Amino acid sequence: MDFIPVNEPLLDGNEKRYLCECIDTGWISSEGPFVKQFEEKMSISVGRRYGVAVSNGTAALEVAMQAIGVGEGDEVIMPTFTIISCAMAVTKLGAKPVFVDSDINTWNMNVEEIEGKITERTKAILVVHLYGLPTQMDKILALAGKYQLKVVEDAAEMHGQTYRGKPCGSFGDISTFSFYPNKHITTGEGGMVVTDSGELAERCRMLRNLCFRKDVRYVHDEISDNYRFTNLQAAVGLAQLERLDEFVAKKREMGKYYTEHLSDLKGIKLPVARTDYADNIYWVYGIVLDEKIDISNREICRLLAAEGIGSRTFFWCMHEQPVYQKQELFEGERYKTAEYLARKGFYIPSGLAITREQMETVVGKVRKVMKAILDVC
Ligand SMILES: *Cc1c(COP(=O)(O)O)cnc(C)c1O
Repeated sequence: MDFIPVNEPLLDGNEKRYLCECIDTGWISSEGPFVKQFEEKMSISVGRRYGVAVSNGTAALEVAMQAIGVGEGDEVIMPTFTIISCAMAVTKLGAKPVFVDSDINTWNMNVEEIEGKITERTKAILVVHLYGLPTQMDKILALAGKYQLKVVEDAAEMHGQTYRGKPCGSFGDISTFSFYPNKHITTGEGGMVVTDSGELAERCRMLRNLCFRKDVRYVHDEISDNYRFTNLQAAVGLAQLERLDEFVAKKREMGKYYTEHLSDLKGIKLPVARTDYADNIYWVYGIVLDEKIDISNREICRLLAAEGIGSRTFFWCMHEQPVYQKQELFEGERYKTAEYLARKGFYIPSGLAITREQMETVVGKVRKVMKAILDVC
């Protein structure tokens, strides 16, 4: 039986040609010319002035948080339903994530809860756009203005998406991207920080590269990591970026197909196709089981795997992470909607290389597994 993986990237453009150019010229490190080109093209594509490429999306968040000056004792408001990179970028600096529950329809953070979480220690709001629909930015930008807070935008899942017609990755003080193979464009591993501030961009370049002092090499006034991005990665990135519009259209077609062929199924909720501020770009195609269905997302993933279908559970909430519980952080905190999504949400094969035939198979197997579940429930 052919197994349909949860993600397969599409690399049939100029990737090979640009990679060969790296090999032929000997430019493979972060000093190669593609890196700057990719930074420029990425920043232009989201309407930012500067781009600083880094080794992955997690590093981009760390660099962004450090660049805006998050430090010991500061608080950063963010959704609890997200990837650990978000919380880690804050806890690593001795600062505290302050969580907000999720919106049941969009799966993004519930912006109505943010104001109540602001204290004198609040330094920033970390917006994380999830699964293909952006977070409602108007309210967040208004709060940031009112309380003088920084805004960091994690746009890892938002390549090519817009919010009220303005590109995701262009909001707030600084935005981050990931180029992991399940994002709309990939470089294998990779990430980028984009900003309109020359000062922040310069700071990010320092932080990306061990904080070498400008005047004298191998002398350091402070510590940071090596988060450099290679010419090889940039070669792939340039080729991918050329096809971003096509990729976004393909993902939307995928979303439309799955929704058309699954929407009559009982016991599940499908992604919202559009809101008044954006059309879904389906980073991945998520499905959420109804609360009354007494089965976990992990079990569904096992059942699908037995049918030859790759799938993944949704994120696990930050306030429920064992690593933070060991540190006695977030004790007694509850976020009902986020906890529900983490237990009942999963996603089905949604990579850019997916074929119509594979989607037909996926639909058939999802229907089979759901029927079997509904029969016993
Ligand atoms: C993928 C992702 C990241 C992390 O990116 P990596 O490149 O895997 O480190 C961060 N935030 C969000 C929302 C993501 O989807």
